[in-house]
Amino acid sequence: MDNQTKKQKQTEATENPSIYSLQLDEMKEWLVEKGEKPFRVKQIFEWLYEKRVTSFEDMTNLSKKLREQLAQSFSLTTLKTVIQQTSNDGTMKFLFELQDGYTIETVLMRHEYGNSICVTTQVGCRIGCTFCASTLGGLKRNLEAGEIVAQVVKVQQALDETNERVSSVVIMGIGEPFDNYGEMLSFLKIINHDLGLNIGARHITVSTSGIIPKIYQFADEQMQINFAVSLHAPNTEIRSKLMPINRAYKLPDLMKSIEYYINKTGRRVTFEYGLFGGVNDQVEHAEELAKLIGHIKCHVNLIPVNYVPERNYVRTPKDQIFLFAQTLKDKGVNVTIRREQGHDIDAACGQLRAKERQDETR
Ligand code: SAH
Repeated sequence: MDNQTKKQKQTEATENPSIYSLQLDEMKEWLVEKGEKPFRVKQIFEWLYEKRVTSFEDMTNLSKKLREQLAQSFSLTTLKTVIQQTSNDGTMKFLFELQDGYTIETVLMRHEYGNSICVTTQVGCRIGCTFCASTLGGLKRNLEAGEIVAQVVKVQQALDETNERVSSVVIMGIGEPFDNYGEMLSFLKIINHDLGLNIGARHITVSTSGIIPKIYQFADEQMQINFAVSLHAPNTEIRSKLMPINRAYKLPDLMKSIEYYINKTGRRVTFEYGLFGGVNDQVEHAEELAKLIGHIKCHVNLIPVNYVPERNYVRTPKDQIFLFAQTLKDKGVNVTIRREQGHDIDAACGQLRAKERQDETR
């Protein structure tokens, strides 16, 4: 441990709230309470999000007293990188340890159009989709906004070494973002703010398994961010088998809430549709799906199922995937097939899991 880190450890109590949870206004209020000038907030945000320092000590244009006060009140190191792996295709997977010892995963995907980070919003998940690894151990706890923001900062710090940038964010890691709605929204505001990470709304996507009341609430926020729904089935029967949440939030009601969102925001919706061999991947399913969503302003993203050892789903053969996509196209539905990335490091959709502290070295 170098001297600087030692010093920081002495002054920064680990149970302090994450400084990354604070909106600009909240930071300003805190400064005024301490008798500081409000303009300091800009300096602090620059240190956090532009220069991305790892210690309050490094905020050298602030007085020593203010730096100490910050260190006494907040934490700058809520995430510790336990594992960082890079796949053959450049995809990176990070295992981060939280202050209470739980671990979460974050993925960085490299595309032609830029680098996209997939962030986690909960330790585990309680939605119970029958094909997904993230839900196997249930939900442990929600992440705080700052713990979600810190994932982006940490990954950006790793990319700083090669002069690359995180250019887009997908909220598609572990957890159901709409089950942690308030913190997710704070996270969105911080990364979107021009003094925060300044990531444009159109470069951010949130995906939900279909928590209907939150879809209405989200529509009313009128944010310009991209919205995706994990549909995975053309009818109630199949959806309930794949996703138990469909019993509480029924498909016809889900479709109504999505139409409300589209009317309210004028934006289109992306439907994620995982192809599970023999379950939902036949031509008749594609035809039924086209009937269900054909009249809606949308786009379908087909995801070939990713292998999860605890689950029994089999992959749909490539030809069948193309036939499924073509059937949708013929009915006038926009469709793409998701490019697969990060397979060799278990970083693909549905393979992320919150590990218990003791199996971190697995
Ligand atoms: N809870 C949110 C965010 C997760 S996004 C949601 O459900 O939308 C991750 C996407 O990967 C979701 O569409 C999810 O249903 C899908 N997924 C999960 N497990 C998968 C698997 N084994 N194979 C392919 N896709 C999977």
